[in-house]
Amino acid sequence: MSAQGPNPRGRRKYKVVILGDGGVGKSALVIQFVCHRFQEYHDPTIEDSYEQQCRIDDEPAHLDILDTAGQTEFTAMREQYMRNGEGFILCFSLTDRRSFDELITYKHLINRVRAGEEMPIIVVGNKCDLEQKRQVKYEEGLTLARQLGGGKYYETSAYLRKCVDEVFHGIVREIKMKEKERLE
Ligand code: GDP
Ligand code: MG
Repeated sequence: MSAQGPNPRGRRKYKVVILGDGGVGKSALVIQFVCHRFQEYHDPTIEDSYEQQCRIDDEPAHLDILDTAGQTEFTAMREQYMRNGEGFILCFSLTDRRSFDELITYKHLINRVRAGEEMPIIVVGNKCDLEQKRQVKYEEGLTLARQLGGGKYYETSAYLRKCVDEVFHGIVREIKMKEKERLE
């Protein structure tokens, strides 16, 4: 892909797409990761990309994160960014079982565009600060992660900034690993 490779400042750019139903906290996670603050309200219809430079395992990385609007209908624009994405974060809310059940639909979207490719995928259960409202058990999240991707599962809280860096660093590690596998 021509968009890959080092950018002018010598950092490898990693294109990450975050998918999942509206209201699960996709924007809150991305904004916590990039801006270190919890955004209570973010327009749910906005699809926007964010850039973040960081060091992961002692290597500089440049993340280009696409925050999507949580719809499963197929549009030309969606197809385009699914084609460009190198790693996918599938996000549901631990307080909303429906959003958990819907993740399979997002996986189908990825499959449709990236048929035959084994894409790096991480599953995230967000809002773990709302333990009393939990509708999905840890083990269920883990099982789904094994079903949909490489098995990496994280429970996060964008509100408390819990496990947020781990998710974004984790997807970069998955991208690197798959890349290495391909070269071997
Ligand atoms: P998106 O539609 O997936 O982008 O979801 P948003 O990031 O807009 O978040 C939807 C709502 O959930 C907002 O009211 C957020 O304040 C709230 N929210 C997001 N993440 C968390 C979290 O980790 N904990 C709690 N308690 N609320 C959250
Ligand atoms: Mg959003």
